[in-house]
Amino acid sequence: MVRIVLLGPPGSGKGTQAETLVKDYHLAHISTGNILRENIRKGTMLGKQAKAIIGSGQLVNDEIMIGIIKDAVKGKKNFILDGFPRTIKQAEDLEKINLSPNLSLYINCPDDAIIKRLSGRRTNPITQQTYNIYTNPPPKGMHVVQREDDRENVVKDRLAVYRKSTAPLIDFYKKKGILREVNGEQTIENVAKNVNAIMQKIA
Ligand code: ADP
Ligand code: ADP
Repeated sequence: MVRIVLLGPPGSGKGTQAETLVKDYHLAHISTGNILRENIRKGTMLGKQAKAIIGSGQLVNDEIMIGIIKDAVKGKKNFILDGFPRTIKQAEDLEKINLSPNLSLYINCPDDAIIKRLSGRRTNPITQQTYNIYTNPPPKGMHVVQREDDRENVVKDRLAVYRKSTAPLIDFYKKKGILREVNGEQTIENVAKNVNAIMQKIA
């Protein structure tokens, strides 16, 4: 059984590394950001509730999020959570439903790198695959969009929310002895190598 939680500031490379991990280790990739954006795109009730919150860089409330996770993990034994938990309450809720992770991968990345990366992030709205106009360009001719919340004024708020509400999870998982830290300020390939080395030890 493999249950991984990805931690790290917005733009640290969680989604990018998750894409490699799911292929190499046959895990289900559960990205709460992707689930919420998909709901916004389809205009569901949840999407309508979440749109303004995401647009302002704040967090969707914990009750809604744990409901989303319960639904998303149904029938899945091995998974990687990307973007969840984002608060101590969400981490505690995960324990309550007997889905404690056995590894928390923390991708560390300084603010200046993050601001540059997020300004260059582009997403394929259909596959949700992410690219970067500076470091990881999309294939020629592919239609990609910039996320509303990747605009500079919202990014500042997201970083503040991360520091206040999400960063305490680093200590939370450290105390449980399952935190492994990776330097996110390297090429995508080198971060993946470090992640792989950690995976070899737990596999
Ligand atoms: P990033 O990977 O860039 O940090 P995500 O795609 O994970 O961003 O999330 C985008 C937005 O979706 C967040 O800023 C937040 O508003 C909302 N969101 C995603 N996951 C959660 C969560 N677990 N709890 C609350 N809000 C969430
Ligand atoms: P997160 O899911 O943590 O918000 P992403 O995986 O979406 O982060 O990455 C944010 C942006 O930075 C994307 O445009 C991605 O292509 C790019 N990126 C990811 N990892 C790296 C890296 N190691 N070096 C340079 N750019 C990266």
